[in-house]
Amino acid sequence: MLEWMKNVRKVDPYVPGEQPNDSNMIKLNTNENPYPPSPKVINKKLELEKLRLYSDPEVTELVCALADYHGLDKSQVFVGVGSDDVLAMSFMTFFNSDKPVLFPDITYSFYDVWAKLLNIPYETKALDEDFRIVPEDYYVDNGGVVFPNPNAPTSIYMQLDKIRNILDNNRDVVVIVDEAYIDYAGESALSLIDEYDNLLVVRTFSKSRSMAGMRIGYAMGNAELIKALNCVKFSFNSYTMNSLQIVLGVESVKDDEYFKEIIDKVRNTREWFSKELTRLGFTYPESATNFVFATHKSISAKELFEAAKREHIYIRYFDKPRIDNYLRITIGTDEEMRKVVDFLESYI
Ligand code: PMP
Repeated sequence: MLEWMKNVRKVDPYVPGEQPNDSNMIKLNTNENPYPPSPKVINKKLELEKLRLYSDPEVTELVCALADYHGLDKSQVFVGVGSDDVLAMSFMTFFNSDKPVLFPDITYSFYDVWAKLLNIPYETKALDEDFRIVPEDYYVDNGGVVFPNPNAPTSIYMQLDKIRNILDNNRDVVVIVDEAYIDYAGESALSLIDEYDNLLVVRTFSKSRSMAGMRIGYAMGNAELIKALNCVKFSFNSYTMNSLQIVLGVESVKDDEYFKEIIDKVRNTREWFSKELTRLGFTYPESATNFVFATHKSISAKELFEAAKREHIYIRYFDKPRIDNYLRITIGTDEEMRKVVDFLESYI
């Protein structure tokens, strides 16, 4: 071993879904939106000569646009480079206790990666046999709580009264609700931030806003939480958001009609596709997201995943305990999902 290697940090990184270079593919493996971003985003005239200047370190325009959109004050909004960046900053800012941070055993697989990277003790709480979060498991002494709602990859939405119960039993730690998929689901925990000064709600432009490649995420909560996040951000990198992210993010927020239209389209396709899956012998929890988490009664998930890939259909398979016979299939366009159904039908 070379001497300098002794001082290199050893980490097991998060492995994102494949981004294959295949022009014929149906790509349903990373929960992207099948529709383009808003025409306002696409048609925005960019003043690229301004790239000469640093971007606004306070991200003021986008913060204000989001604050207006959600009926908040700008002191209640923090913006980052995708919700991954916002969540990583939040782990760093809020999870500094010797007690373990709690999250579900089956959940977004970045949480344990950040915890390990930042030396945060953590404990996972098992989902019940229907893959539901058990709120009571979080009523114990801890260093913080984080979970997605709806959860991923299970696609299950937890009603707000249960989130309220978790918050009532966790008044002294920060509770992060990762709402990456909330626009496809039910009521947001955002309505609780005035009541709970320790609640941080995290959102992304990657799914419902169809801007995964732009990398925009944000957090909303009490102004003190947002101030703490900004202090850590400004100790790390002042210019996390580039000028194009700021300008195009604002354009997306302006176009609520298009936003709602593409959410409806995905939800409708999801309902149709789910029924087709039932017909083909799959079972799945009722999805509140832009993906379905399905298992087949007789054919293994791994086999189906590999067979689909040979047909240029990319879906996600997790070789992990409890979920290794499930497939996570992102909802694409009607035409794409029709092709997936045709493939499944002929294979099965
Ligand atoms: N949270 C959850 C639950 C997710 O599934 C994802 C997408 N991989 C993210 C956060 C991060 O999304 P992004 O960084 O693109 O905003």
